[in-house]
Amino acid sequence: MDFSLTKEQQMIKEMVRDFAEKEIAPYAAKWDEEAHFPLDVFRKMGELGLLGLPFPEEYGGAGGDTISYAIAVEEIGRACGGTGLSYAAAVSLGASPIYYFGTEEQKQKWLVPMAKGETLGAFGLTEPNAGSDAGGTRTTAVLDGDEYVINGEKCWITNAQYARQVIVTAVTGKDARGKNIITALIVPTDSPGFTIRSNYDKMGVRASNTCELVFENVRVPKENVLGDPQKGFKQFLYTLDGGRISIAALAVGIAQAAFEKALQYAKERVQFGQPISKFQAIQFKLADMAMGIELARNMVYKAAWLKDKGKPFTKEASFAKLFASEMGFRVCNQAIQIHGGYGYMKEYGVERHLRDIKLMEIGEGTSEIQRLVIARQLGC
Ligand SMILES: Cc1cc2nc3c(=O)[nH]c(=O)nc-3n(C[C@H](O)[C@H](O)[C@H](O)COP(=O)(O)OP(=O)(O)OC[C@H]3O[C@@H](n4cnc5c(N)ncnc54)[C@H](O)[C@@H]3O)c2cc1C
Repeated sequence: MDFSLTKEQQMIKEMVRDFAEKEIAPYAAKWDEEAHFPLDVFRKMGELGLLGLPFPEEYGGAGGDTISYAIAVEEIGRACGGTGLSYAAAVSLGASPIYYFGTEEQKQKWLVPMAKGETLGAFGLTEPNAGSDAGGTRTTAVLDGDEYVINGEKCWITNAQYARQVIVTAVTGKDARGKNIITALIVPTDSPGFTIRSNYDKMGVRASNTCELVFENVRVPKENVLGDPQKGFKQFLYTLDGGRISIAALAVGIAQAAFEKALQYAKERVQFGQPISKFQAIQFKLADMAMGIELARNMVYKAAWLKDKGKPFTKEASFAKLFASEMGFRVCNQAIQIHGGYGYMKEYGVERHLRDIKLMEIGEGTSEIQRLVIARQLGC
């Protein structure tokens, strides 16, 4: 029992754990092997209200808080890192920006079906030549009458192949200092000239759908601008702050899965006449793993709590994302170590956790970028 959780949060935890153990965990190894995106599971998650968990009921959501959402990400990630990533991206990147910045009309048109789990959305920021340096975006959107005409390319965009629309960042001009003005636009995936391919062969999170996007004179109406056309850059920074809480939660979930396997194995594996869990060297590893996970989970809850209270949470979201992803990587690595040679074999399922968790140190801002964000928050 997590004493710090409310009754509602505890109920969400139990409900999602139960769902993930039945509907996701038994198939995770197969989806990883086949790089299969479990669309049917997303339909079921939609029916359970998970895709609209942190949005108000008036927008088709479940009216939950950010802590409940982080708990859901952790529990899905504990069952399958790839499904967890796609779930986190659907909510934090696909739907949240429309909730934060959209007009009432945009919310009704795009957010409500996503929150109800009827459609998925994606968020296209990264480009082949603009990753950490997102200000270096090269995709352009030029106003022509009442429409923007988009040209350019995006890479590694989660869920795009299954999305009804993608929020795309594009350069729409230069400011007084000669810097790019970046605007966010809602682009329907069936727009003429919009090509979506998913040819990547990934190391991990293989159940997640990852796409390349190409825009060739894609036209969208002016009404599809999301939020302030001058503030697309600021908007995605806010979106990523929220997204980092979910990536941290996902790292906690993956680490928790690896830890549980390691603990169980250590109690069962006998060497030198006793279970290896009786060796202090193994005990110390398990103690460090358990402590790191607990600390990271608390950091996730704190950042989520600050967000729910409407307080600044940029630093705490970066703390949580950086700590949870690096801690999680160490935990998954040690889980293999505790399994010895068996851990190196796919059959035991721990190597998948290590491959999955590596992405947490890269996506939604690398560890290096998190340290930059934190340093800036410290006033450096
Ligand atoms: C599976 C997957 C899913 C993804 N999903 C999405 C998505 O849905 N939407 C989306 O927009 N993007 C997505 N991404 C992209 C992801 O956010 C980027 O990969 C990430 O931001 C890093 O950019 P990059 O890969 O271009 O690395 P680069 O920016 O080229 O960085 C390379 C290295 O240089 C370091 N570095 C860069 N700048 C600095 C600096 N100033 N100081 C110190 N070190 C620095 C980085 O930390 C890194 O170690 C996804 C990526 C993957 C792999």
